[in-house]
Amino acid sequence: KATVMDGDKFDHDLPSELLDNSQEKSALQKLQDERKTLPIYPYREELLQAVHDHQVLVIVGETGSGKTTQIPQYLHEAGYTKRGKVGCTQPRRVAAMSVAARVSQEMGVKLGHEVGYSIRFEDCTSEKTVLKYMTDGMLLREFLGEPDLASYSVVMVDEAHERTLSTDILFGLVKDIARFRSDLKLLISSATLDAEKFSDYFDKAPIFKIPGRRYPVDIHYTKAPEADYLDAAIVTVLQIHVTQSPGDILVFFTGQEEIEAAEEILKHRTRGLGTKIAELIICPIYANLPTELQAKIFEPTPEGARKVVLATNIAETSLTIDGIKYVIDPGFCKMKSYNPRTGMESLLITPISKASANQRAGRSGRTGPGNCFRLYTAYNYFHDLEENTVPEIQRTNLANVVLTLKSLGIHDLLNFDFMDPPPSEALLKALELLYALNALNNLGELTKAGRRMAEFPLDPMLSKMIVASDKYKCSEEIISIAAMLSVGNSIFYRPKDKQVHADNARMNFHTGNVGDHIALLKVYSSWKETNYSTQWCYENYIQVRSMKRARDIRDQLEGLLERVEIELMSNPNDLEAIKKAITSGFFHHSARLQKNGSYRTVKNPQTVHIHPSSGLAQVLPRWVVYHELVLTTKEYMRQVTELKPEWLVEIAPHYYQLKDVEDPGSKKMPRGQGRSVKD
Ligand code: ADP
Ligand code: MG
Repeated sequence: KATVMDGDKFDHDLPSELLDNSQEKSALQKLQDERKTLPIYPYREELLQAVHDHQVLVIVGETGSGKTTQIPQYLHEAGYTKRGKVGCTQPRRVAAMSVAARVSQEMGVKLGHEVGYSIRFEDCTSEKTVLKYMTDGMLLREFLGEPDLASYSVVMVDEAHERTLSTDILFGLVKDIARFRSDLKLLISSATLDAEKFSDYFDKAPIFKIPGRRYPVDIHYTKAPEADYLDAAIVTVLQIHVTQSPGDILVFFTGQEEIEAAEEILKHRTRGLGTKIAELIICPIYANLPTELQAKIFEPTPEGARKVVLATNIAETSLTIDGIKYVIDPGFCKMKSYNPRTGMESLLITPISKASANQRAGRSGRTGPGNCFRLYTAYNYFHDLEENTVPEIQRTNLANVVLTLKSLGIHDLLNFDFMDPPPSEALLKALELLYALNALNNLGELTKAGRRMAEFPLDPMLSKMIVASDKYKCSEEIISIAAMLSVGNSIFYRPKDKQVHADNARMNFHTGNVGDHIALLKVYSSWKETNYSTQWCYENYIQVRSMKRARDIRDQLEGLLERVEIELMSNPNDLEAIKKAITSGFFHHSARLQKNGSYRTVKNPQTVHIHPSSGLAQVLPRWVVYHELVLTTKEYMRQVTELKPEWLVEIAPHYYQLKDVEDPGSKKMPRGQGRSVKD
């Protein structure tokens, strides 16, 4: 049994094979010394005592105090891992990987051995793993295989304040299993002070506060609203760099595209600064950044240079970068928004909440007094920003979660113990969607197709597309498409000085106006034919690492196909079959061309457009099915394929009737600018 007294093992826990190597030992020793400087360290014994005394504990401490990296190690040192793993969830992939890497270093073990991580499509753990960092979504999926989490002795739901959808569902599930697993310890940790709410939810669990060290932060606002925050941010970076005392800069952007654009502009503009000005080291950080580059943000800044970290929300609370003295906050983040009435989901750039703005500012005051430059007005801050970010559960499509809960045997969703319940409309919409996808029957029970779908760690529409590929005998092609779609929008790249070449290369895959899904398939198949050649990727302006990721994902999907007993079948020339399989998953996302060149979605009429990056952007087919909507200057459909309207009725007869797809006023379909599908 773990006792608090095991604590004095702390210094002597170095693995013996490393003790022989004096260089490694001193590096380790340095890390061990660093651990003791963290704000959490003085509370180590008290914290272990509290964990010992209570089954559920809410832990609050400022970002950077050492919650994520230290608490699991303390528990390990105190012996908790003798009777099961310590699992620690993170809302973000990058955080899970990066923190696991750090902890494995601190413990002097190889990543993936005693300390590992598990994120979607990537399991870096082994039999040996006792400290497991993972995304909240992965722990949720673990319930499917191990409903009582028997292999865990402690579950730490970390970054609870982020209130992601998966975290909110985990709350309900872990609270439930804690009732019958009295040996399971539950830690809920958060960087903000709204701990009372967590405590109340977990039957008045005690709150353990780790006093932070925070230095004063000077907040600067702009006098007038900024028209272009990207440009304003860059100008501010350069001004700080040229006029302000040493100290690193952290800028918050909304996503990879913005960060890459900013990186390029900054590189360009600093070239002309001359040798009198210190070097500016530019470090991007976002979810799709390759691991080697992610580590760069943590490297100490060389004497005389200045680092500027261009980050997404990930640096708000999930990752702490030491040495930040200046924060630039444009005031936006990318957020999912969902309209439960129409069932439409869209990613959009939204103003952050006051709580977020304060977290961001706080990043500059960790090691000394800091400065935060808000690229909005004080009026804006006080009058326009919401107090808190709305929990994701209240602004997202719930189909995925509902499918998971149904697979766990939880049927009464309306009475699930939600901390903040989702709008009942959204629950109903999710049930409707799953019913339309034939994952649930009319009693709301999981069907065979639904059970198969639940095996895939994908959105139900994607998993339905895969399950349907069985019928159309094209599972080979469909899992390639699913893998490519899962990689996101980072397949093609378009260097500024070679845009024409890049666009030509890209259009090669669109020959015959096959649509974006088939184009992705062609990219994948061509790459495979070259035996996964890197050179080929360069020549075609395709990102090698995205392709490698697609290959990894595809491998896993192939394994899952076997598990649900779908045969791997190839049907590369029957494009109609492939498109029908796509439509089987995405028939909700159908849209019809309007006279003015825009589109109307079919079931919940809304005006949308084909994204300019689509191969069909100039073709404008009469009917399309799309992968997702993104709202930028307009509501855009991204990844678009032409379909025949009669497929909708054939594939989803309980969802579409003939009247939905007939042209009003004309029986025959006129041939406009669009082309009909010819395969
Ligand atoms: P919290 O979870 O309370 O926000 P963390 O445990 O994440 O705090 O961070 C504690 C310290 O560990 C911070 O000083 C942070 O900079 C450092 N740290 C965390 N991850 C890494 C990493 N991958 N590389 C280097 N330092 C890291
Ligand atoms: Mg943390």
